[in-house]
Amino acid sequence: MTTTMTLVIATGNKGKTTEIRALLEGFPVDIRNLDDFGPIPPVVEDGETFEENAYKKASFTARVLGVPALADDSGLVVDAMGGAPGVLSARYGGENAADKDRYLKLLEEMKGKTDRRAAFECVLSIAVPYGAALTYEGRCEGVVAEAPAGEGGFGYDPVFYYPPLEKTFAQLSAEEKNRVSHRGRALAEFRNEFDKVMKWLEIHMPAQEKFQCAGDAG
Ligand code: IMP
Repeated sequence: MTTTMTLVIATGNKGKTTEIRALLEGFPVDIRNLDDFGPIPPVVEDGETFEENAYKKASFTARVLGVPALADDSGLVVDAMGGAPGVLSARYGGENAADKDRYLKLLEEMKGKTDRRAAFECVLSIAVPYGAALTYEGRCEGVVAEAPAGEGGFGYDPVFYYPPLEKTFAQLSAEEKNRVSHRGRALAEFRNEFDKVMKWLEIHMPAQEKFQCAGDAG
């Protein structure tokens, strides 16, 4: 018997949700967004690593909603900045800064620097309500561009230049970005192990027993 497992994507970031949905298209899993449920309190992302934060988000969401949850924690790691902004990528430039403010601040910080190596990193965590979780990782290396270019993607995409395709991430189509990105790579690992993950979820999310009600036919 094939059962379709529900998986809620534990992020309010529309850019991430769109990419994750596209990457899991065709797989027998019922993908839900947080908007499909009532509002839930935000998790404090105070972990020191992408792993810690991804696990926190996935596990908290699974616990609150009672269904398996998939969370991504990701960010940009810049060599010349000692790995910053890293886990603080979403908050770089202050809580109220927009994506553009953040990447302009990064370009300012990198002005005159010759070592422009950087990488996007992503950790995916799939958790069940009582806390167990699986983890997948992906990384994509590139350089910080001298100036923004392109309109696609989100976040730091306009200033992340990917040498093999000679374009910034914001200049790639969604398919091109998903093929090479940190998130695309982590999700590719997840897809390769899809059958195993579904078995793991079935073991950790046993089907609810059906109760016969008085008056039910048969
Ligand atoms: P968090 O994982 O929600 O804490 O936020 C990660 C932050 O890293 C995002 O808000 C973006 O600023 C940045 N980021 C993560 N993935 C990407 C990407 O694929 N492109 C551009 N920026 C990204």
